[in-house]
Amino acid sequence: MIDMHSHFFPAISKEEADRFDADRAPWLAVEKGAAEGHIMVGEKRFRPVYRALWDPDFRVAELDAQGVRLQIVCATPVMFGYGWDAAKAAEWAARMNDRAIEFCASHLRRLKALAQVPLQDLDLACTEASRAMSAGCAGVQIGNHLGDKDLDDEHLVSFLIHCAEQEIPVLVHPWDMMGGGRMKKWMLPWLVAMPAETQLGMLSLILSGAMERIPESLKICFAHGGGAFAFLLGRVDNAWRHRDIVRQDCPKLPSSYARRFHVDSAVFDPAALRMLTDVMGVDRVMLGSDYPFPLGEQRIGALIRDAGFLDETDRRQLVRGNAEAFFGC
Ligand SMILES: [Zn+2]
Repeated sequence: MIDMHSHFFPAISKEEADRFDADRAPWLAVEKGAAEGHIMVGEKRFRPVYRALWDPDFRVAELDAQGVRLQIVCATPVMFGYGWDAAKAAEWAARMNDRAIEFCASHLRRLKALAQVPLQDLDLACTEASRAMSAGCAGVQIGNHLGDKDLDDEHLVSFLIHCAEQEIPVLVHPWDMMGGGRMKKWMLPWLVAMPAETQLGMLSLILSGAMERIPESLKICFAHGGGAFAFLLGRVDNAWRHRDIVRQDCPKLPSSYARRFHVDSAVFDPAALRMLTDVMGVDRVMLGSDYPFPLGEQRIGALIRDAGFLDETDRRQLVRGNAEAFFGC
């Protein structure tokens, strides 16, 4: 199996984080030798985490037990630094990418990294994406928005065109979720806002007409099965047919763009996976677990393995073949 959506977080010390941004740069609080710790932002606990997040040997032992041959790791979104001064974010991204490459270095056949980029500055983002690819990264991960700019923003479209031209695969991950004040409890930002953020990213690319300008060669995957996208695509098509303001920038039926996107399989429900393979295509869905977080798939690949509606060939594509084609690995 190839698991194409998982996160890492390097053992960043408080001193190291403070040198970049004492209030906003994240760091790892873990007692020496401990199996559990916290991602911290400033003095605040951001998230409890365990050893697989920062220890590659421990991680690979877990992957052995789970039957995962190759795992693609990427930054935990709190590491993005999109709100910082661009030069500082570029320096930070380069450092995090070097740490990601280092994380994978002792298990080169088992772990590959996606780079992060200082997305707030187009030139710096393109430069770091290309540098990180030359240094051994397998692609880039970006957040689905940059403050109030969604993926249809000219700047972000230009970055995606750069990735298409340079053959850099892109994973888009939801982050910095909408709805703040009304979603304080019960992990609602992860349960409600995250799927909406992802759908917003996909629809902003389609309805703005950006997909008409972005080369078809772009390999772009959206996390969490594309969030709410597949389930609500019929609603979007209906709106496109009946309201001119929906189709004013988008010349084709929205669903006709679905095959331009890949999604991961992190939907946790056989009926949802079935809809995903129907809407996006069996060749567009890749195993992605969101490991090693509690909201990830605990038995990696079980949803696909147990999906009775897929034949053996389809299953192989989802757990391995599609990712091999997407990342060229
Ligand atoms: Zn994730």
